[in-house]
Amino acid sequence: MGSIKAGLVLRNANAITLDPHRPQASTIYIDGAYILKTSSKDIDSKLAGSATQVIDCRGRAVIPAFHDAHCHVTAYAESLLNIDLGPDSVKSIKDIICRIKAAAATTPPGAWIRCAGYNEFYLAEKRHPTLRDLDLATTAHPVKLVHRSGHAHVLNSPALALAGISGRSEEPPGGMIERDLETGRPNGLLFGMGPYLAEVIPPVDEAEIDGAMSRAGRMLLSLGITTVQDASQGNGPERWNRLLDWKRRGLFPPRTVMMSGVEEAKRLSAGQPLNEYDTGLLGGAVKIMLDEVRGNLNPPQDEINRLVLEIQQSGRQAAMHAVEETTVGAAIAALEYAMEKCPRKGSRHRLEHCSVCTPVAARRLFRLGAVVATNPAFIYYSGERYLATVPREQLSHLYAMKDMLKAGLRVAAGSDAPVAGPNPLKGIFAAVTRLAENGCQVAPFQAVSPLEALRLYTIDAAYSCFLESTLGSLSRGKLADLAVLNGDPLHVGPAELKDIRVELTLMDGKVVYGRAV
Ligand SMILES: [Zn+2]
Repeated sequence: MGSIKAGLVLRNANAITLDPHRPQASTIYIDGAYILKTSSKDIDSKLAGSATQVIDCRGRAVIPAFHDAHCHVTAYAESLLNIDLGPDSVKSIKDIICRIKAAAATTPPGAWIRCAGYNEFYLAEKRHPTLRDLDLATTAHPVKLVHRSGHAHVLNSPALALAGISGRSEEPPGGMIERDLETGRPNGLLFGMGPYLAEVIPPVDEAEIDGAMSRAGRMLLSLGITTVQDASQGNGPERWNRLLDWKRRGLFPPRTVMMSGVEEAKRLSAGQPLNEYDTGLLGGAVKIMLDEVRGNLNPPQDEINRLVLEIQQSGRQAAMHAVEETTVGAAIAALEYAMEKCPRKGSRHRLEHCSVCTPVAARRLFRLGAVVATNPAFIYYSGERYLATVPREQLSHLYAMKDMLKAGLRVAAGSDAPVAGPNPLKGIFAAVTRLAENGCQVAPFQAVSPLEALRLYTIDAAYSCFLESTLGSLSRGKLADLAVLNGDPLHVGPAELKDIRVELTLMDGKVVYGRAV
């Protein structure tokens, strides 16, 4: 090793390595894509030559790059095509009208204007916008607004007409058309009509999606995220090929682990080689959706058991979407069933979200060697809604990071973008403070330490998809994926965690965001 010189050295770093052998370091030697060594001494001339590039971190915190263990890449990209009406961008319906007016001025008449992220809770008027508000902005363009939850839409008059919704329209199953009390005419506000609207509103075109993927990739890298796991249910060979194409064209650089649906997974492993290491596209778990429909488990328990056993026997990893206490229970029961029928260690089956998790459930999951991929940032983005709607006895088990860690579980964090924004520091803030955006606090006793929160987004996220030997900590021999921050997450006040910014991101030993000085 005496003759090897590092191509790149980070010095004067306050590195939080998450490597138990050297938790802190000040110098990181990088050779090609890999970390050659971390050290608490200044540059060693034996490891750095005249050709070595040196980045002076000036005492900045350096962490392993973030890893989003559960998101929806293409849906997130498509969400970037929308005008952002989130609480960071608008404060009132008046603001919304202004934003749409401005967009209308540069959009050809007749073309759709798509907006997303509004939340009436944070609007000065404390109500949903209606068609009357949107018509003030433009009637020359169809306008569609999506609520941050995705469950409500507002359309202006032209959009409503194009969607074929009138006073005589009947509600589709699960949908609700709000109507003016006096005239009976739709007021533009629609609930639960997403699937219906998806059929009648034209999709965005390919070139626009290419652009959006590129923006999404750059956005993730700017947040220090170099690996994402795509948990979309419909993922199969078609999505694999699209992702591969975007990656080969350099449009979406973050390393991507693609989960797939049960049937799609069979077509994938039968038809094509998985794991394109060069392009950074890897195959992930087999996703199963568990739902509760009017008090009934969907699919029923014996069907879940059968699916999980099949995955267990195939040697793959199952990822069960389970939110409610009942679905979490059903997922655990299925894992216990499969483990008994076909004992196999190290399968690391996953629960996605695991939103309501009692200490008993956490201990059962631990005994099964299961992993949880949960969503700390939901507390930040939806905390006030949880306080208002989740029954009291469940609230104390909501996103129960502390109980899960106490049970010994490995817990990974995902943003579920576009459901919530992808910034991991908002999630770390919420995991540590249990505070929502509006300042209310959700089950404070479930708070974890900043170091524990950091692990959720790095080493344990890597563990959740079997990548912990190459990613997730700043350790010799691992890939040089790291982020330089403008604040030290272990030492700033908890309130400041959410405002820490990424200054520099390295992936595979190369600067992919920010400027190295
Ligand atoms: Zn999801």
